[in-house]
Amino acid sequence: MIYEDYAIFTPGPVKMSEEILEIGAKQCPYFRNSAFSDVSFYCERELIKMLNAPEGSKLVFLTASGTAGMEAAVMNLLTKNDNALVVNGGGFGSRFVNICATHGVPHADFKVKNTNLSDIENLAPKENFSTLIVNAHETSVGHLYDLDAMGAYAKKNDLLYIVDAISMLVTDHLDMQASNIDLVIASSQKGLALPPGLTMVILSPRAIERLQDIPSLYFNFKDYLKNGERGQTPYTPAVTIMLQLQARLEQINRRGGISQSIAKAKEVADYFRASIKSLPLKEYSPYMPNAMTTLTPTDGKSAMDIVNDLEEKYKVMVCPNGGAERDLIFRVSHMGEMSKEYTDILINALLDYYGVKAP
Ligand SMILES: *Cc1c(COP(=O)(O)O)cnc(C)c1O
Repeated sequence: MIYEDYAIFTPGPVKMSEEILEIGAKQCPYFRNSAFSDVSFYCERELIKMLNAPEGSKLVFLTASGTAGMEAAVMNLLTKNDNALVVNGGGFGSRFVNICATHGVPHADFKVKNTNLSDIENLAPKENFSTLIVNAHETSVGHLYDLDAMGAYAKKNDLLYIVDAISMLVTDHLDMQASNIDLVIASSQKGLALPPGLTMVILSPRAIERLQDIPSLYFNFKDYLKNGERGQTPYTPAVTIMLQLQARLEQINRRGGISQSIAKAKEVADYFRASIKSLPLKEYSPYMPNAMTTLTPTDGKSAMDIVNDLEEKYKVMVCPNGGAERDLIFRVSHMGEMSKEYTDILINALLDYYGVKAP
């Protein structure tokens, strides 16, 4: 199914800008040369700057979806001698739990609900941990954790702090140095608003020190870092998406930088939330990111029915949940090439759906 003429409010892939789409339509160039190395160097430098990563941080480009970045981080940094505290507030947290289990890494499945962990000190199990792992924005429910509080806890207990920032990068605040974060996972198809297929892992010097020799050819970070010194990857990278990443980072800079990008996402999210206040839809989490709004119907309607109706009657794509949450919640992304005007398409569809006149 190709949704050419649909309005897109799904949390990945997200709406891309014309500028990025045009690069995708071009011939893919050869890449083992200094011109392409310059592209990698630019992207690494700009992302490191954007995240305020510590001096000496390095970036690994993986040709894979975000989950590969999550798994590769665990594979390259943790062993059976570690004990990871894995925050599990939904589908992506439980994925990290599965990854640790798959690779025989001892871990605690730290199930959390109704907290952003600003009080992690009190809530965390009282065990000796080596590592703290969290999805900054738990995208399955639209829940943003307090990265600073968790970072203070990690620092106090000397934990390696691994953050999956895939679904909050460029829409919500992230500062590796201020939050003591050692490793960040980013991916192309969420806030970066590029096609899926490119994942980036940003390693602080402390994370680099912890790299293991691992029984994997493709996911060996030491190999990536060695090749990265000359702006290359061991195997063919997602060349076109990297060219699009370069353009996207330039675009963010041209538009006023990362703080402006975050402010814009907040403006759009606030506008959406204020515009649907009169509808029988309640915000699901008190800790919503700018990246996304999760809504629960208060009039007994099924969330899944609303999603299907928006798609069929209004050509608007929002995101359903599966399993037990199928009828309970649906999600609206504010990531990507968003504006108030574009968001009006969804707002007007919702107002019409509920028979409310637009103001
Ligand atoms: C989308 C997402 C991922 C990556 O999922 P893939 O389908 O592997 O790209 C990982 N973590 C979070 C929090 C996400 O939202």
